Order: sequence, then structure tokens, then C-alpha cells
Amino acid sequence: MKKKHLAILLSRLKGFESPKPELEQYRTPGNVAAELLWLAHSLGDVEGKVIADLGAGTGVLSIGAALMGAEKVYAVEKDKRALEIARENARSLGVEDKIEFVNTDVSEFSKRVDTVVMNPPFGSQVKHADRPFLLKAFEVSDVVYSIHLSKPEVRNFIETFVVEAGFGITHRLTLPFEIPAQFWFHKKRLEKIYIDVYRFEKCASKPI
Ligand code: SAH
Repeated sequence: MKKKHLAILLSRLKGFESPKPELEQYRTPGNVAAELLWLAHSLGDVEGKVIADLGAGTGVLSIGAALMGAEKVYAVEKDKRALEIARENARSLGVEDKIEFVNTDVSEFSKRVDTVVMNPPFGSQVKHADRPFLLKAFEVSDVVYSIHLSKPEVRNFIETFVVEAGFGITHRLTLPFEIPAQFWFHKKRLEKIYIDVYRFEKCASKPI
């Protein structure tokens, strides 16, 4: 499959029916999801791997990972309706069997996986909403792909937080991210922001 083809397939999936601002339900655009998954695939973090998608929403990243050859994907999401849409989306592309839909808060998820992929809440509605996601990701996996706002204060936070957790940043990709006006506080029809896609990896323990 080509990256462009993956982007188109993912962009055609059904999104949130009535996005909840307090949960920061922005779906990842197909092209951004495809870039993240392409990077992960090229580094050997997808094919044949067990993957968790934390805050899976309507399933864009989970389904993309399954299409790219993941052995199994846990789609972890606390909004039941979003997860139902994720299941319909997975069925429409024939990858429902590869995905386990886990309707729970990410803090309750405790399966060990090879790779985490996630687009967590950016923390613009509820401050620091991305922290529980990062902590959980670092607890269950040694390799984590995550999407964050591309802003100096967020970058500073990520750089410090990640190092304190014993991880390092191995890759960072800055991309435009288009958010359609879906919440009352959005003024423009299409809000274009920039995001950073990160790859974090656990640092090898230092020799004594
Ligand atoms: N990963 C999806 C959705 C991103 S939006 C995509 O890429 O399109 C963030 C998602 O995290 C939302 O679906 C929201 O419902 C979910 N979420 C927010 N807080 C959560 C929590 N504590 N536990 C589980 N899911 C949560």
C-alpha cells in the first residue's frame, strides 16, 4: 500500500457524531495518521507487533496500524459511542478481527505491548490532559508514538517529562493539522494548527 492510499482510506472513515469538547475529541486527519504510521512501519514498530492506541476515538490510528500489518491492536477509549463507530469503521475495511475494542479509561489499561500509538487530548480544554496518556504509554510500552501541539511551551514540557520518565525522543515530525470548526468556541471554518509527531523510546539502563 502507498502512503497516499492509506491517507485516503483513513480520511474516509466516519468521525465523531457529536464531539465532546471536554474529551478533546478531534479526529486525526488521514494524512497525519498516515505519516505517523509510515514512520512507525519504516522503523519496524508495526508489522507483526502488538499495539495499543490510547484514546482511540473513532479508530483512525488503530485501523491504520491493522492495515499496515500489526498482529493485534488494542483500541482503548472511554467514550462508548466513539468506540462503536471505531468498530464499524474497522469492519468497513475488513480489519475488525485484528482489533480488540477496550471501553475504559486509559488509566485502567494494563496490557504490555510492543508499541503505543496515540493522539491524546492536547490539554487545551483540560490542562495537562495529556499527562495520564504519556504516563500510561511509558508504563505499558518501550516505544511510543504520540501527537502534541507544536508550540514552544509544549515542546519544553515534553522534553522534560519524557526524560524524567526514562525515555528519549528519537524522532520528531512537524506537520499541519486541520481541525474543522466543530465546537462553538471555534471562530474559523477550518482551523489550521501545527502538531509534532514524536517517537519516544525507553533508554537502555546505564551500566553500573
Ligand atoms: N485517537 C483518535 C481520537 C483522538 S481525540 C484519533 O486519532 O482520531 C482523543 C480521544 O481520547 C477522544 O476520543 C477521547 O474520548 C479520548 N479520551 C480522553 N480522555 C480519555 C481517558 N481518560 N481515557 C480514555 N479515553 C480518553
